[in-house]
Amino acid sequence: MGLKNFIDGDKDFDHQKFHEELKDKNSELNFMREINVEETSGSGSRELEDIPFVVKDAICTEGTVTSAGSKILENYTPVFDATVVERLKDSGAKFYGKTQQDEFGFGTFSTNTAFETPCNPHDSERVVGGSSGGAGAIVAAMDQPVISIGESTGGSITNPAAYNGVVGVTPTYGRVSRYGLVDYANSLDKIGVLAKTVYGAAKGLETIAGHDEDDHTTADREVPEYSDLEERDNLKVAVPKQYLELDGLQEGVKENFQDSLEKLEESGAEVEEVDMPLLSAEYAVPAYYVLAMAEASTNLAKMSGMRYGLELDPEDFEDYNEYFSEVRTQGFGEEAKRRILVGTYTRMAGYRDQYYVKAAKVRQKIINQYKEVFEDFDVIASPSMPNIAPRIEEAEEMTPTEIYAMDTLTVGPNLAGLPMISVPNGESEGMPTGLHLVGNHFREKDIFNVAHAYMN
Ligand code: GLN
Repeated sequence: MGLKNFIDGDKDFDHQKFHEELKDKNSELNFMREINVEETSGSGSRELEDIPFVVKDAICTEGTVTSAGSKILENYTPVFDATVVERLKDSGAKFYGKTQQDEFGFGTFSTNTAFETPCNPHDSERVVGGSSGGAGAIVAAMDQPVISIGESTGGSITNPAAYNGVVGVTPTYGRVSRYGLVDYANSLDKIGVLAKTVYGAAKGLETIAGHDEDDHTTADREVPEYSDLEERDNLKVAVPKQYLELDGLQEGVKENFQDSLEKLEESGAEVEEVDMPLLSAEYAVPAYYVLAMAEASTNLAKMSGMRYGLELDPEDFEDYNEYFSEVRTQGFGEEAKRRILVGTYTRMAGYRDQYYVKAAKVRQKIINQYKEVFEDFDVIASPSMPNIAPRIEEAEEMTPTEIYAMDTLTVGPNLAGLPMISVPNGESEGMPTGLHLVGNHFREKDIFNVAHAYMN
């Protein structure tokens, strides 16, 4: 395998064509927050020479505005590149700009943005998913390949991968440096890759993974050659039965999933249902939202118009409290405000034990449940999302709790910091659906191999 696998046969990458197509498609679908093409400058391996890459808006890029989908950071232009960006540039990949997302990652459809709502390339009346929605849409929209860097806290790579019909890999927590990421929830955030093929996602992850002096939560372990995709025999696949009984699991999605399981079985895998009660909507979703919002509310405290955030004229205000309130009132969208309020409440003295501490305990129990299953199985399979991408109009009418419930399939592995990959597994009502494969900690290679075999 070589870079030819990206580019198809013997063709060279046509940058001019890519740039033109990017501008055209984007004017129709709005998946980019900013197109900013840079000359390749890196001094490293040049292994990805000529491959274009784009980055979710929440990841810092030197000289290119980094707003994380929020008005409060509308004009924030970092003076440094995030580690992942630096590593891609070093490998010779070519930067093309930033992709749209939900504000600070708070959402499921990329409709919670201060900027234009991106539209799905398969049907422009439908959402792109979220929060790394633009990151998924660009991969599906463009003819030529692109490495698209996303970030997942509770499912933000799997979700847009499924809704747009592309491959999306979320690594083990600590596998990829978060240095230069505008944090959502530090104990959950993971930077990963969306691409057209498993090979593309594997190559991208291989380039950005590994220990980083600037992020001491990165693991000091060797990065295997993920892109060296190989066959795997005697695979044992677990299917949590709670997922199959999920409210809101659409019939077409379920059928595609069952077909995928048959395909895996035909290729020699052993598929078995397992009981994982804590993965139900009743436990995993509330635990995730309590923890994610608590962390988010502390992270957003720094957006006050002093060090970060919208600047107003302090002279216009009685005191600094008034100034901060106005900056935050104007700068944050509705979902961000909701999360600041709920997140602050759940960790307040008096409520902490009832909410935050309890959620942390549920999280530990979920991790233990996964550990047990991985004693006997190699991967856990499920549909990636319970539904196909809803229409933008429908999405805008859903209540927050209805939207949160859609994360049931993805919050579990995110809470446990496990690696996961979503691959396209057919269509329902003309829209793509995804197969989700979750692996044990640091076993990205397992999920890449299974996904690759599945897609071939
Ligand atoms: N939909 C989830 C949330 O709103 C996950 C988003 C994410 O992974 N950034 O928190």
